[in-house]
Parts: sequence; C-alpha cells; structure tokens
Amino acid sequence: SSPTKGKVAIVTGGADGIGWATAQRLAQEVEHVVVADLRADAAQARAAALGERHCGLGADVTGQEDVAALVDTVVDRFGRIDMLVNNAGVPEQVAATVDQQLAAFDRVIGVHLRGTFLMSQAVGRVMLAQGCGSIVNLSSIAGFAGIPQRNAYAAAKAGIVGMTRSMACEWARHGVRVNAVAPGYVRTALVAELEAKGALNARSLLSRTPMGRMARPEEIAEVIAFLASERASFVTGSTLVADGGWLAW
Ligand code: NAD
Repeated sequence: SSPTKGKVAIVTGGADGIGWATAQRLAQEVEHVVVADLRADAAQARAAALGERHCGLGADVTGQEDVAALVDTVVDRFGRIDMLVNNAGVPEQVAATVDQQLAAFDRVIGVHLRGTFLMSQAVGRVMLAQGCGSIVNLSSIAGFAGIPQRNAYAAAKAGIVGMTRSMACEWARHGVRVNAVAPGYVRTALVAELEAKGALNARSLLSRTPMGRMARPEEIAEVIAFLASERASFVTGSTLVADGGWLAW
C-alpha cells in the first residue's frame, strides 16, 4: 500500500538501530518521516536515504529548546504531526549499584524519561489541537524483570510504562492514543558490538530466551508501526511486549 498523503511521523533516535528500522517502516505508512537524532548529520543521511519527501533534524530530546525547535520546524514544514515514536535512548553502563556514578544515573533517567516527557508534551499540544494522533514509547523487558546492575535503566523503562498510561488516559477522549512497546534483546549495532567485545554473554542470553534468538530491529519496528497506525484504533495505554517469550519464561 502507498503511504497516506500528508501524514507525518517523527522518530527520535531515528539514525540507528530500532529507530532507523522504524523510520523505514513508517515511510511505507506516512508521506513524511522526520528522523530526529542527537547526531544531525546521521539523521540527515538517513532521511536522504529514505527519499526527498522525508527530513532529518538534529535534536537532543533532553533539551526543552531543542524539542521546541524540532516540533516548530516540523509543523512549519509539514503542517501536522500524526505519529511520534519516542525511541531515543542510551544504554546504561552496567555497574554494581554501590559503585554507580550519579551522572550516569541522571543521564539514563534524563534521556528516557525527561526526553519522552518533553517530546510528548510538545507534540501532544499539536495532536490535541488536531484532535488526532498517536504516540509510541520504548519501554523494555528491563522495566518488568529485575536485571541486576541496571537500576537506572529499569527505573526509566518502568517509568515509561506509567507515563504511557497517564498520558493515554488524559488524552483518550481527544483522539490521541499513547502506547508502549517493550522489546527483549534486539540485535542492533550496539548489541553486536557488546557481543564482539565479550561484554554480553550471548549464549546464556539466548538460552534464557524461549525463541532462542534476538529480535531483528525490523520485528520491533513492525510492532511500533502497528500501534502507531489506525489498525490499533482501540488500543491505548497499553505496553506490548515483543521479547521472543523472555518474560513468559
Ligand atoms: P541505538 O543506540 O542503536 O540508537 C539510539 C539512537 O538514539 C542513536 O541514534 C542515538 O544517537 C540517539 N540518541 C541518544 N540520545 C539521544 C538524545 N538525547 N536525543 C536524541 N537522540 C538521542 O539504540 P537501540 O538499541 O536501537 O534502542 C532504541 C530504543 O529501544 C531505546 O529506547 C532502548 O532503550 C530501547 N530498547 C532497546 C533494546 C535492544 O536490545 N537494543 C531492547 C529494549 C529496548
């Protein structure tokens, strides 16, 4: 099917990994995909690869001014925002809680929670004025299960589930849906790199996963695209787990 004319989606952290897979998938659904990323050059290169209808913009989701400038630019250029995917994220330095640095804690909480809040607030205003729109946030299995030495990441990802529910209930009668996806392990460049360095024990991870493998980024993008689209028109406030059975174990 061809993309819906005039429709606009923003993917934060869209230059790599799950975000880039999502940008490619959403380009099949909407006319304009905005690849937003901390790394402006990478975002622009990705948007160029998608085609000239799309655009890449640099923005730090933790900065209120960056977020305002991003949303203003998108509305000026395309006139509306139909989908927002709050995907930008940073991995936590795996460290014992007693050794953990406060700055690292603040960084993880900041990018995931403050970033998701600021982007949702700014885009939410646009969507409420339109009377329609859909937001998808990235949680994780780490928000549900007690993975050791990941306290900030776990708190951020559980926090995203709560924020998703709160915004969903607040905006449900205004035509704006808010949902989350909780992926298990996804074979992104980052995960492959950790694996290559031996920092991630792939064998134990895979034997712990009922499906016995990691997700491909496209598999998570497909779930995100479903929740973002009208195919999920009665789904709001929910977190869809896509983990190859990890949490069911
Ligand atoms: P990735 O590192 O491949 O990509 C993340 C992107 O976010 C990068 O392009 C980075 O530049 C960008 N980014 C980082 N900080 C930013 C900021 N402040 N403002 C704007 N952009 C910023 O990551 P990924 O593995 O694709 O993960 C994407 C999301 O999915 C994250 O929220 C992550 O926590 C979540 N997630 C990942 C996995 C996994 O196994 N990879 C599992 C569950 C959840």
